Order: sequence, then C-alpha cells, then structure tokens
Amino acid sequence: MSAQVQALQPHHIQPLAQIPPAGVDFFDPVPFKVYTQRDLDRIAPLARLSSEQRFEMKVVSSVLPFRVNQYVIDELIDWSKVPDDPIFQLTFPQRGMLAPEHYERIAGLIRGGADKAELERAVGEVRHALNPHPADQMEMNMPRDEHGKRLEGMQHKYRETVLFFPTQGQTCHSYCSFCFRWAQFVGDKELRICSSEAIELHNYLRRHPEVTDLLVTGGDPMVMKTRHLRDFLEPLLQPEFDHVQTIRIGSKALTFWPHRFLGADDADDLIRLLTQLVEAGKHVALMAHYNHWKELDTEAAQAAIRRIRGTGAVIRAQGPLVAHINDDPAVWAKLWKLEVKLGLVPYYMFVERDTGARNYFEVPLVRAWEIYREAMQQVSGLARTARGPSMSASPGKVEIQGVAEIAGEKVFVLRFIQGRNPDWVQRPFFAKFDDKATWLDQLVPAFGEEKWFWQDEYEAIREDRLAAA
Ligand code: SF4
Repeated sequence: MSAQVQALQPHHIQPLAQIPPAGVDFFDPVPFKVYTQRDLDRIAPLARLSSEQRFEMKVVSSVLPFRVNQYVIDELIDWSKVPDDPIFQLTFPQRGMLAPEHYERIAGLIRGGADKAELERAVGEVRHALNPHPADQMEMNMPRDEHGKRLEGMQHKYRETVLFFPTQGQTCHSYCSFCFRWAQFVGDKELRICSSEAIELHNYLRRHPEVTDLLVTGGDPMVMKTRHLRDFLEPLLQPEFDHVQTIRIGSKALTFWPHRFLGADDADDLIRLLTQLVEAGKHVALMAHYNHWKELDTEAAQAAIRRIRGTGAVIRAQGPLVAHINDDPAVWAKLWKLEVKLGLVPYYMFVERDTGARNYFEVPLVRAWEIYREAMQQVSGLARTARGPSMSASPGKVEIQGVAEIAGEKVFVLRFIQGRNPDWVQRPFFAKFDDKATWLDQLVPAFGEEKWFWQDEYEAIREDRLAAA
C-alpha cells in the first residue's frame, strides 16, 4: 500500500446526518497536484527514462494535450513496467502518437530553437490534419434557439438526448492520450465546444419535450465546483422539466481523481446534490469512463464508488478499446467482472475514433469484435450488458455484431444502436469483410450493393444541416 493511501484517514467530525448515506467511507481531503507539458521535467519517476524518450514526450505533448496528476503517478502506474504499463500508455505521450512526418517536423523545430510563432503555426497545422472534430460534430449536431441562433456548447444528435458542455468542465483531472475530445483542451477557441449559459440550456430543454436525457459532458464536468453543477442541474427539478427523466454525467474522475467524491466539503456537497436529484425522482447516471481494471483497483476508487452508489445514482461503465492499453480479452473480462462486483453496470465497448492519435491506438474492427466476443465468453450474464464494439460515427452508433458467411460472401454484420433517424435502429446491415478496416468509412456494402440502406437519407440530413450551419 502506498504512502498516499495510508494517509487517507477516516473523518471524525463529519455531520453524518447531512451526508448520505451513512456507513460509507469518509476520507481526509487530499491536495490535487497536477503536471502539464511544462512540468515534464518535474515528474520524478520519468528520470528512469532516457533523455531521448523524454524529448519525444515534449514533442508529442506540443501537439496533443498532456496533463497528469500525482494520484495517477503514485497509485495507478506501475513504474517497473513503464513504458508498457497500460496506465502510463493511457496518460503519457508516446512517440508513435504522431505520424513520422508530423513528429519530424515538430522535433526539428524544437531542436533548431524555432521561435514561438513558427512553432505555433506548425503545431496548428498538424492539429488541423488530425481531424479535430470527428463525425461532423461542429456542423451537424449544434442545435439552434427559436430565433435560429446557434447554441454553442450543446449537441443534439439523437432525438431523446441533449449533450451539454459546460465551460467550467472543459478539462479533466488527467488527460487520456487517445482522447477523442482532445481538441477541447489545446487552447484553440475555434476548436472548442462549450457554454456557460445555464439559461440557454434550460430554454432549449423547455422547448423540446421529446428530450428525456441530458448528458452533461466535457472534458469532465466533475472538475467543476459543485455549485456550478448545481446551477445547471437543480432547476431541472421544476415540474416544467419533468420530461427530462435522466441526468447523465460523463466523467473519468472515478479513475483520475476519486478524491473528488471523498473528503472535501465540495465532495459532500456533490453527494448531497446527487441525492437530491435522485430523491426528486430523476434517474441519475454517472457515465464512468474505464479502460483497464487497474483504474478500479485502489482504495480511494472503490470508496468513491460506494459513496456515489449510496446516493441512489447508477454508475454505468464505458470506454474505448485501444491498442497498447486494453486490446486483450483478458483485460476486458477482468474489467467487466470487477465492475459488476463493485455494483457498476458495464455499458459500452467503443471503437477508437477517427481523430487525434488514432494511428497509434486503433484496432482493426475484426480484432475488436474477437476481443469483445472472447471477453464476453469469460463473464456471467450480469457483465454481458456491455454493448459493442460500437463506432460513434456521423450517421449513428454502429455496432459490429459479428462476422458471417452469407451466400458465399464473408461479411460484417452491423446494426445501429442509435441513428440520426430512429427508424434505422436495430436494422441489421452488411459490409464486405475487410480485415484491415478500423472505421465505418473504410467499409463498403456487401453483396455488390452500391450504397447502405440509410445512405440517401443520411446524405439529405447532412446537406440540410451543413447548409444551415
Ligand atoms: S476523460 Fe474523457 S474527455 Fe477527459 S481526456 Fe479522457 S477521454 Fe478525453
């Protein structure tokens, strides 16, 4: 057990009656200490790496965001296994994350002592080449108010669900090296989706009774002070928002900073807020992002889970399948088993998205399906609630159901879990088998068909949205 975990002592003076539920663990506040690109040289365990490896990290983190905290360094990474350790791969920049030509360009400028403006220009060009907003999300999912004004910081792609990106939540306690929302973190306002306008969110929800689910996301909304979260969520308890039945909060704080839920006053306030929402009849779901069972394997992580579950909120677990971190059925089986043991609901296995460092992290679709299948075979029915492997593509969430031979042709069997048109959902369709394909846009329809059954309709929706953008 590390020194940090030993230092976590139970509180003696918590007003138990106010902090539901009784009987769960309380911890003393632990200071949050974070490192970014500027601080790479101050991360003590990195001294064991060669100077070349440390230089590579500097180059890659000039382009892609980097942020890690002391809890991740001390509690989650096994430094004796670096660089292969999965949590090290999950949080620290790796040379392979940039294409060789991009890497060489930025490394050359840094080595040659290029001035700030020149370096920034090159970095900006490389970022724009990395598909910063996949699935047309900047153009196709942005809703508008009753006057046609585009509402920044919201997305409304599927009928029932609105996504809200609060400005104060557009960072995370650490960054994932494969993050598909990396463009939110690079300080470029043009690449950012966010809003601090609670009033715009509430007006929009008021005008859309078809919306049953609000997903507050980021970044990580759990980096926000509870009072800000409360400003967005508490008004939803008024009767005019009865149609918003479910409040989902997307977060990786249970992995990166479980102390967010333990110890400090603001944590107690958060627990009270969740309890209040549940008691008022809302379904509250913490959409917890996990990639590896090691993330669940600390005392603080498990105490935070117990505390959240004590409020009546549900924790659903989801995350992408990524090379170098979890492309192994044994890792997924162990992750899902541990999730069920701790009372979490396994929800999704995603396919790594077509953005950022995808070349380093992507796994062929056929391999993703094999890993999913082999992992499923090792777990009981309660862990088989995880859907996948699923691609969050522009037309919708497309699941790879399997590989089959039909009428002499080897095909992928696919289906929409979610679609821009709800009528597409659950309709199987078929793609020509391709053992190298890693994303939907690399697949072609099977049986000599010229297009997908949904293609014309999707293109019409797309044109419509792009014209209005
Ligand atoms: S927690 Fe989510 S938003 Fe934050 S860096 Fe990781 S993948 Fe990106």
